[in-house]
Amino acid sequence: MLTLGPDDILLGRHADSWQTALDSAAEALVEAGLVEAEYRDGLHAREAQSSTFLGNAIAIPHGTPESRQFVKQTGVRVLQFPQGVKWHDGQLVHVLVTIAAQNDEHLDILRQLTHVLDREGVSEQLANASSAADVARLLSKTVVEPRLDADTLCVNFPARDPQELALAAAARLRQSGCVDNSFITAIASAQPTWLGKGLWLASSSQGVNQPALGVATPAEQALQSDGHSVHALFCLATQGDAHRPLLEQLMALLDTGASDTLLKSSSAQLLAQLAGETASTQTRRVRVLNPHGLHARPAKQLVQVARAQSIAINVRLEEGSATPVSAASLTKVIGLGARRGQWLVLSAEGEQASSSLEAVAEAVESGLGEKVTPFDGGFGSTQEASTSTPAVEPLAADTPHTGVAASPGLAIAPVFVIRPMQFEYAEHASDAEHEIKRLDSALKEGAAQLHTLVHNAPGGEVADILSMHEEMLDDPELHHAATDAIREGRSAEAGWWDAIETAAHAQEMLADRLLAERAADLRDVGRRVLGVLCDVTLPEPPDHPYILVMDDIGPSDVARLDTSRVRGLLTVRGGATAHSAILARALGIPAVVGAGQAVMALNNASMMILDGDRGRVTTQPSEERLQRAEQQLLDQQQREADAWESRFEIAQTRDGHRVEVAANLGNTAHAADAVERGAEGVGLLRTEFLFMAYASAPDLATQIGEYRQAIEALEGRPLVARTLDVGGDKPLPYWPVPQEDNPFLGLRGIRLALTQPEVLETQLRALLMASKDSPLRIMLPMVKDIAEFRAVKVIYDRLLQEIPTSQRATDVQLGVMIEIPSSALLAPSLAAEVDFFSVGTNDLTQYTLAIDRGHPELSAQADGLHPAVLRLIQMTVAAAHTQGKWVGVCGELASDAVAIPVLVGLGVDELSVSARQIPLVKARLREFDFADAQASAQLALSQATSDEVRDALETR
Ligand code: PEP
Ligand code: MG
Repeated sequence: MLTLGPDDILLGRHADSWQTALDSAAEALVEAGLVEAEYRDGLHAREAQSSTFLGNAIAIPHGTPESRQFVKQTGVRVLQFPQGVKWHDGQLVHVLVTIAAQNDEHLDILRQLTHVLDREGVSEQLANASSAADVARLLSKTVVEPRLDADTLCVNFPARDPQELALAAAARLRQSGCVDNSFITAIASAQPTWLGKGLWLASSSQGVNQPALGVATPAEQALQSDGHSVHALFCLATQGDAHRPLLEQLMALLDTGASDTLLKSSSAQLLAQLAGETASTQTRRVRVLNPHGLHARPAKQLVQVARAQSIAINVRLEEGSATPVSAASLTKVIGLGARRGQWLVLSAEGEQASSSLEAVAEAVESGLGEKVTPFDGGFGSTQEASTSTPAVEPLAADTPHTGVAASPGLAIAPVFVIRPMQFEYAEHASDAEHEIKRLDSALKEGAAQLHTLVHNAPGGEVADILSMHEEMLDDPELHHAATDAIREGRSAEAGWWDAIETAAHAQEMLADRLLAERAADLRDVGRRVLGVLCDVTLPEPPDHPYILVMDDIGPSDVARLDTSRVRGLLTVRGGATAHSAILARALGIPAVVGAGQAVMALNNASMMILDGDRGRVTTQPSEERLQRAEQQLLDQQQREADAWESRFEIAQTRDGHRVEVAANLGNTAHAADAVERGAEGVGLLRTEFLFMAYASAPDLATQIGEYRQAIEALEGRPLVARTLDVGGDKPLPYWPVPQEDNPFLGLRGIRLALTQPEVLETQLRALLMASKDSPLRIMLPMVKDIAEFRAVKVIYDRLLQEIPTSQRATDVQLGVMIEIPSSALLAPSLAAEVDFFSVGTNDLTQYTLAIDRGHPELSAQADGLHPAVLRLIQMTVAAAHTQGKWVGVCGELASDAVAIPVLVGLGVDELSVSARQIPLVKARLREFDFADAQASAQLALSQATSDEVRDALETR
């Protein structure tokens, strides 16, 4: 917003000529400390290009782009000339709004001034104003612009009724800053109204910062509520009568009667329909190429071309807003605030529509009087690293560089750096049918490639992701969007990529981080097809072992990897939750992600040591460091082979202290594999992953079937099943959680489960009925104190009464996870009532150290060996053992070779780790005596930081 203080406004100026007026404006900027004196020449140079007169006696002098180097700070100085100054284009100017802008901020200032241009009599008022406050008031009148744009849409939301759609749309408005939480509360407490024709409305004026219209469409096509179909829900944030234009758009949509077309519409299509574009409306998309967007000069040209046509032409921002404006109105066109790279949608109706739209589009494409270059931004950031990547310092030789540890293990090999692919293609093509044929055959080729990859995929998760890619490729919506664009004159490549970008963008807007990450999958699929269309193939990797370095590794890149040659993965971007990291772990390839741009500057074939446990890489290591690492690697390989040989031995320390070693699973089908790897049970079944595999909550019979699969594979070994842990970093699409400022501190885990006790009850019942004779341990996630445990215990006890003993588990225990510091601090009160504890060190560390476990930069510091976390574990074990209860650890720390003796020394009874790690953890236990472990624990507890703990343990 243009906020002007009294110091920004200089009244009662006089100038004999426009040049002297400009000079005094320049001086005012210098005096205010906003610019260097040289900026004056930039103001004159800009004026020499064309007049900055805006209208209503206002001119907005600003420097040329070259003169921005003289701007010290962005700001504005307003000079009032009561007698007026004759400007060089013949206009009379009373006010100079002189801008010092480092970037394109002047576009925003311009936008905010457009309201002044529409008002009659303003020039006289500005000329006669006798106080700075009056001028400020005239210029900075707050214009409340109602909001309806891509950010307020939520398409294909997996809702079960209009109420859930209303909450999703309200959450989107909250995210866009239009409303606050009280709006969501108001929407949650009222039932949406049926408007007719499949349309529903929810509205409130509570907590509204800006009037806005949120729109949510359901994923399910045949959704019904109260006997009416549900095609779209409108969530209106009302404010005075400022939301009226939105209401009018809504009414217009109701009048057209075609609401079922809203279903399955992409964001762009939805905006088009809300903009009133019907079958009889002709449209033409055109991209703004001007380096500084549609500022006054190019906007004027556009308006002139539009006015020269015989019919009315409207224009809107494709992604920005669903409100079209007249292309013949300068203020309205400037008000769009269109920037370089954004798409405009020109629309018109009638016989001349096509030729008129073409004329305006051509003018835009040719730069509206400015020199323009083609837009490469669709790919700019990823496809042209060599030109768009800022210069970065290369990694120093023989010096460890830290990233995020994503998959454990040590790798030593030369690097192979894959730079982002470049695709070159024409944006437009005239023969749409030919382009569609090209696209279709590229899609077929892409599908065939994926099919082969799925077939050859090394592991379940890899195959799952590639199959998901196959489905994405088959999505009729993507195909429609692409062919529609091609029929509008886009080439096969451009049409396809537009469709991919639109869909990926919509995905990114989802509140859930994990769902949003699927945008990377969409782009990955998109690039595969683009590669076929542009005949671009990936560079051939070397035929010797190497460490692969990429900007970010897409799932299909991982699947393509020849695991016999790829020793390690290193990426610029990505966090530990990215798909590439998950896949690297599944394939057992050591990986470090999020290591920053510097790694792209590595020379191919330079030697590297990659430590996936510590998240460190060292390039060009010294001979000594290399030898040490090679020895370490040999030792590690030998250890792995020995560990595999003895994986079925009982898990215990060298002197026979028993510590159970169990597996962490997210899929009951993997229980047999865990047993084959030596698991003595399942120590953590993450049942939310099992729920995620279904489109809606699995019913009792389905759940019994799932749990039984694991129980049977375990052949009498215990199963520790965790009840649903949804929320935070684990979204469940059909259990939407309202947008929260801080979901990790919000409605998640057991808190969320208790909001729908019937779901929890079905799960408990299914677990109890699936087990019968096998040992069953049920644990509750994210418990903060005994009250939550008791709330579940009531249901659990009732079920034990209700289900006949012959039909349910008898060897059953109910425990809690210790992953919130409060529960560790209160362990004595919990231990008195629960049957066992399992420490979730991932969350316990996150909450104790206040570091988001998925944070791309900080998560490396979230080390569970921090003495603060260890003290909490110590308290937990002491409290449990006093009451004769057992304690497991099921977070990642349980498989950390350095941490294992410490955990055992603290008295932990069970370690639950990923199945791959089981043989190694068992082998690690055999390397020390219990007394050593106790000494390690004491040593660790006496340190002050996690680094000190690790150093002390390493030198012990
Ligand atoms: C933990 O928090 O340590 C844990 C095991 O649970 P999850 O990783 O599933 O949150
Ligand atoms: Mg957890």
